[in-house]
Formats: sequence, structure tokens, C-alpha cells
Amino acid sequence: MQKKSLINKRAFIAGVGDDHGYGWAIAKALAEEGATIIFGTWTPVLKIFTHALKNGKFDESRKLSDGSLMAVEKVYPLDAMFDFASQVPDEIKNNKRYVNTSGYTISEVAEQIKNDFGQIDILVHSLANGPEVKKPLLETSREGYLSAISSSSYSFVSLLQHFGPIMTDRASALNLSYIASERVIPGYGGGMSTAKAALESDTRTLAFEAGRKWNIRVNCISAGPLSSRAAKAIGFIEMMIDYSKVNAPLTKDLQANEVGNSAAFLLSENASAITGVTLYVDNGLHAMGLALDSNSLQCKEQTDLCSS
Ligand code: NAD
Repeated sequence: MQKKSLINKRAFIAGVGDDHGYGWAIAKALAEEGATIIFGTWTPVLKIFTHALKNGKFDESRKLSDGSLMAVEKVYPLDAMFDFASQVPDEIKNNKRYVNTSGYTISEVAEQIKNDFGQIDILVHSLANGPEVKKPLLETSREGYLSAISSSSYSFVSLLQHFGPIMTDRASALNLSYIASERVIPGYGGGMSTAKAALESDTRTLAFEAGRKWNIRVNCISAGPLSSRAAKAIGFIEMMIDYSKVNAPLTKDLQANEVGNSAAFLLSENASAITGVTLYVDNGLHAMGLALDSNSLQCKEQTDLCSS
């Protein structure tokens, strides 16, 4: 039997609030490879998530291939909009979904993990938030644009700043992007396309800086469409999934665990010379320059473009 690639590794996954998204799928793939898992869960959804986890609501999707359940060592509240406690405005502190929770800024979570576990080997950023995502860029406010970048891109910079010092030698970090960073996807607005472009650019710069400073690898996965909670909130995810199935080189469904498995590879020593890359895990959709189901391709001679 092949040796598991992440035995004795501890992974912190920021951005898990249910069992539908990429963060959960990555956690499972890492657990399959022997890693132990800790989560950072957005403060407003912490209670409902930890309740559900405790009450067995996720037991079916926690099942690993050997029949055991993925163990989650600890769930930390996290609001990746804030680096230090002093930055949290009163209106957030006193909000009913925050008031009974503390220590959710990035520096505080890093400090707690250091106290609880000493070090981590794997850092995953699987979170995004753009309050004006449904607005075209031309109609996006400065506030909405900066908020998208703050929570979706700078949060990764900050996570690496604060977790780098508690990551082991040869540790690895990963974030998740989307093709809208480099191609126009109407509907993915509010500065979210900008935020993903920043994330991919930062992946390269941080690969250099964190590589030299801590010997840490930094990579990104540009994932295809998945019907997660965040994606459903944008409103057109089912259309994106259908579009991909008709137009991508591979016409199968994209499973979250395919992104999970690719993440497990990038985060393991099997990828020990890979850093600063954005890897497409999207059934190949990124490679296409034509939408095969476009009306304008229904030409008179009926050339069979789809199969050639
Ligand atoms: P998801 O809903 O599972 O994950 C997003 C998470 O971000 C949620 O758990 C949410 O609670 C958390 N979050 C939001 N604001 C936060 C904050 N301020 N602090 C901490 N956590 C916060 O959805 P997902 O689609 O799996 O998203 C995970 C990552 O994958 C995101 O970066 C997303 O952009 C990326 N991605 C998704 C798709 C897709 O089609 N679903 C495609 C490509 C990339």
C-alpha cells in the first residue's frame, strides 16, 4: 500500500462553515493523507457550524475511505477582515453574532494555535466575501471594492504574515482563485474579479518572500464552479456549472474532492519544488477560447466543432 503523504502534519483551514464548500473537501483530502485538521470558521456562522459538527449532522460527509470519521481537532472563530483586536469596530464587537465570542482576529487566532499546538505544517485560505458581488464593476462603490479585496485577498497576506512564524520548515500554504481573475465573467462583480487577480499575483510574490524567509511554499488553485453556499449567494452558479459541462474539454461534473486531491498534492512533499503557481482544477475550461454552444457557431455547414 502506498504511504500516506501527510502523516504527522497539522493543517489549519480558514473558511469552513459547512460541508459543501472547497474548504471542507480540502480538509477531507488532507485527512485521507493522514493530516490532522483544525478549522477557522467565520464568527457569524461559528455557532451553527460547531453545533452541527457536534450533533453529527456532518457525520456522513466526514466519512473517510477507511470508514473512520475525519477528526476535527478544534474550530477557532475567525474574521479574516481583521488582523488585530484593536481594529474591530464597536458595531461588530457588539453585534449579536460576535458579542459572545472573542479572539477572532488573525493575529489572535495564530497566537491561540501557537499556544494549543505549537506549530502547523499547512495553511489553507478558502474564503471570499464581496458585499457588492452582484454589481458590475462600473457600479461598484469604493467601500464594496475595498471590502472585497480586504476579506478575499489581503486576508491571505495577513494569514501568512501571522502564521509564517509558527509554520514548520518546508511548510506549505494554499489559496483558491477563480478564472474571473483573468477572463471576464459577467456577474462576478463588486471587485471580486480584482480580488482574485490580486490573490494570484500575491501568490507569486509571497512564494518568493515566504520561501526565502521561512522555506514555505505558496500556491493557488484556480477552481472550476461548485455549488457552494458562497457561490449560490452570487446567484448564477448553476449556469456556470452547466456552461462548463457543455464547453470544457472534460464534460463531467467537477467534484469538490478533485480540488481537494489537487490541494493535498500541492500541500505535500510530493510537490516539494512547486511554489508560486496557480493550478487550474476546472475540467480544462480555462484552456478554451470558444463557447461551443454559442448561437453564432450554428453555421450553415454544420461543422462538428464539438467533437473535433
Ligand atoms: P464556501 O461558502 O464553502 O466558503 C467560503 C467561506 O468563507 C465560508 O465558510 C464563509 O463563512 C467564509 N467567510 C466569508 N467571509 C469571511 C471572513 N471575513 N472571515 C472568515 N471567513 C469568511 O464557498 P466556496 O465556494 O467553497 O469558497 C471557498 C473558496 O473557493 C473561495 O475563495 C472561493 O472564491 C473559491 N472558489 C469557489 C468557486 C466556486 O464555484 N464555488 C470557484 C473558484 C474558487
